[in-house]
Amino acid sequence: MQCPQCTSTDTYVINSRKSGEHRRRRRKCSECKHKFSTMEILVKTKRDNNDIAHKLQTINKLMDDMKKWIELNG
Ligand SMILES: [Zn+2]
Repeated sequence: MQCPQCTSTDTYVINSRKSGEHRRRRRKCSECKHKFSTMEILVKTKRDNNDIAHKLQTINKLMDDMKKWIELNG
């Protein structure tokens, strides 16, 4: 990870917090001591089948939301 201050790549993680599908990391540059945070999407290690199941779940949820919207507005 590159430091946004001095563009050195000599940075290290001082804190890391998982939030949902993301991971927030506090990093510190060993060159200029600049602290910055990064947001990383967690690497998915799920197999393809699970991924499709997850997508279907998301679509189903969207459909439910759509039905609710139509009931309210249609
Ligand atoms: Zn730096």
